[in-house]
Amino acid sequence: MNGDNPLLDFTGPTRFDLIRPAHVGPGIDALLRSARNAVEHVAQDMRPATWDSVVAPTETAFDHLDRAWGVVGHLNAVVNTPAIRDAYNAMLPKVTAFYVDIGQDARWYARFRALAEGAAFADLDAAQRKLVDNALRDFRLGGAELSDTGKVLLKAVQEELATLSSRFDDNVLDSENAWAHYVLHPQDLSGVPDDVIAAARAEAAAEGRAGYKLTLRAPCHTPVMQYADDRSLRATLHRASATLASDLGASPDWDNSALILRILELRQAEAQLLGCANFAELSLVTKMARTPAEVLAFLRDLSRRTRPFAEREYDDLTAFAREELGIPDCAAWDLAYVGEKLKAARFAYSEQQVKQYFPEDRVLAGLFAVVETIYGVSVRPASAPTWHPGVRFFEIRDAQGTLVGQFYLDLYAREGKQSGAWMDDAVNRRCVQDRLQHPVAWLTCNFAGPVDGRPAYFTHREVTTLFHEFGHGLHQLLTRVDVAGISGLQGVECDAIELPSQFMENYCWEWDVLSRMTAHAETGAPLPRALFERMLAARNFGSGLAMLRQVEFALFDMLVHSEYVPGGGGRYDGPRAVLDDVRCEVAIVPRPSYDRFIHAFGHVFADDYAAGYYGYKWAEVMSADAFSLFEERGVLSPEIGARFRDEVLARGGTRGALESFVAFRGRPPSLDALLRHNGMVASRGELLLHGSKLD
Ligand SMILES: [Zn+2]
Repeated sequence: MNGDNPLLDFTGPTRFDLIRPAHVGPGIDALLRSARNAVEHVAQDMRPATWDSVVAPTETAFDHLDRAWGVVGHLNAVVNTPAIRDAYNAMLPKVTAFYVDIGQDARWYARFRALAEGAAFADLDAAQRKLVDNALRDFRLGGAELSDTGKVLLKAVQEELATLSSRFDDNVLDSENAWAHYVLHPQDLSGVPDDVIAAARAEAAAEGRAGYKLTLRAPCHTPVMQYADDRSLRATLHRASATLASDLGASPDWDNSALILRILELRQAEAQLLGCANFAELSLVTKMARTPAEVLAFLRDLSRRTRPFAEREYDDLTAFAREELGIPDCAAWDLAYVGEKLKAARFAYSEQQVKQYFPEDRVLAGLFAVVETIYGVSVRPASAPTWHPGVRFFEIRDAQGTLVGQFYLDLYAREGKQSGAWMDDAVNRRCVQDRLQHPVAWLTCNFAGPVDGRPAYFTHREVTTLFHEFGHGLHQLLTRVDVAGISGLQGVECDAIELPSQFMENYCWEWDVLSRMTAHAETGAPLPRALFERMLAARNFGSGLAMLRQVEFALFDMLVHSEYVPGGGGRYDGPRAVLDDVRCEVAIVPRPSYDRFIHAFGHVFADDYAAGYYGYKWAEVMSADAFSLFEERGVLSPEIGARFRDEVLARGGTRGALESFVAFRGRPPSLDALLRHNGMVASRGELLLHGSKLD
């Protein structure tokens, strides 16, 4: 049965070469059937509740469903075509309904309770016990304790939420793909780097047009905003990107306004059905932070410490724009441009100059060398089918040559690929009857690819992004937990997820690491030390404004899920009022009235970061402090690396993130390192993170 459906082949690497949209419906249907049968089998099993009678019988069916559905979701995100999108959206309601149904199944819940309360529980190892505890929590969050009416209501809410989140992403992707701005004369692109111009010419030529095609994809949008001398061109791109998927966007079909209101309404309904006052409270049940008030206090404290630095930066920028660039009214679309000009004048620093030193192959070799040195593993290219010719596949092996995990690298931006950079778990580590299933990760970025036979060169910012995603990948791949559901990132509190990723970013500022991954485009020479010193000098210019911007996003996210009451009756009459209020409180840079960035804020409206965006800063306190131990003992110390892997990366969700941190660092996290890394050393930080209690 199903032998001819490559989506159901779990014997080796995923058959991306054979999987077609037509395989999705029948394949996922078959996996849903067997997962449902497995649950039914356990629910009806009358034997004493043990791991082998309650958990083990469903493990493989769920693993296969997760993997195959993960493949479909991944293809939908990275090679989005009408056929894949239709196949994904056709199955999404069925998959959602399945998970909602089993999460509410009172008989299955009773079997887990019996296991947790029975004699067999003491025989389980730490990961198994944690899996059972998490399952009980998730049954409660899934509505297993609700009345029949409550269950029906919750199911309707969760199914609609899943569909709307997917549509939110589709609208952003469609409006981004549809937008283009054509420029005929090269002089209109004055200031824009040559490689960006060459790529824009190639994009236009691919459509049979003369001139240059500008898009909102990062490899084009970012450098145009940084370097285009034509102020009106910058304003055009800024407006287009700030109005994506909004009432001011290109098409009412892609307007996310109504979706945002409905998503917030549904989340509020979900929270109340489950006995929480609001969605923020519900979201924090699975996080380190305990209450919305604790998160708000953390963000406001960060804002207060950052503000003087950000104000000074903004004054500097506006004065420089006025006096040196003849821009008397520095606007949102001037900031990146003025920032680059100021860094060039004050620090003799140019991101484009630095970029000439970072060819793709050297960067990857340098990244892998760091990982090989501190963790004692090796990273080698390997072969497996992929979803696009630009994608590569690698293996990580330990010192004995034993396979640890595998990952795919999809670095370049292209049409039909969701913007941003992320890591997704493709396969989770687990051990079944002494057979180990190795973890696999998908690493996705949106960098400029090779043009006209010239290899890709990355900006230092892009190098940092790659290190960030690779940090997530290592969390997934270096785990030693044998229970899927607790291995890798699974079961880790969401506000600790950004610890391993932001930790890796620190290596992009270490001379010994950085200098070895450089070779100049023309001369092949490594990065000169003097240029690195200028990078360091320029590093923290703008970090105050950047920090405040993140705090603004995080505050909006927390307040819109706690103090805005959908349908009326709260402090705010809409999400927009929340944003206005947050901007009054923390923002320094004025934003134009057309700014609709929340309409494309997928992290919060279509992703797992809802009432959790603060997690970037929350986890950065820990990642900076974790790195400070490497700074004390040697940034490439294999000894400290082994300890970081043992106590943090390998542990998965077997214990709380705070406990893992303390085991590694020897004390709770402190804010000092984060402030120091951002050049904000004026105020010493006391301990800010409380989170889950140690037990
Ligand atoms: Zn991340």
